[in-house]
Amino acid sequence: MAFVITSPCKTEKAGECVEVCPVDCIEEGKDMFYIDPDICIDCGACEAVCPVEAIYMEDEVPEKESEYVSLNRVFFENR
Ligand code: SF4
Ligand code: SF4
Repeated sequence: MAFVITSPCKTEKAGECVEVCPVDCIEEGKDMFYIDPDICIDCGACEAVCPVEAIYMEDEVPEKESEYVSLNRVFFENR
């Protein structure tokens, strides 16, 4: 399980989540930020500071945002 960044990040993308992540597992991509699911320790700190509520626990991602579970993982696999 890990936290997942979804589409609202695309319009905000200010990076508050990066500042609070204790394990440094959030990175900036072309259009939005992503969380490395293999490093995330599920602390929830990023979710609490996101101004647009783009961050969800993996099993709480809304249906219409479900593709972002794999998009976050694939971002780190393809580097
Ligand atoms: S705090 Fe939210 S909107 Fe800002 S970069 Fe992180 S996920 Fe994106
Ligand atoms: S839940 Fe915690 S460890 Fe995971 S990305 Fe957010 S701040 Fe980092």
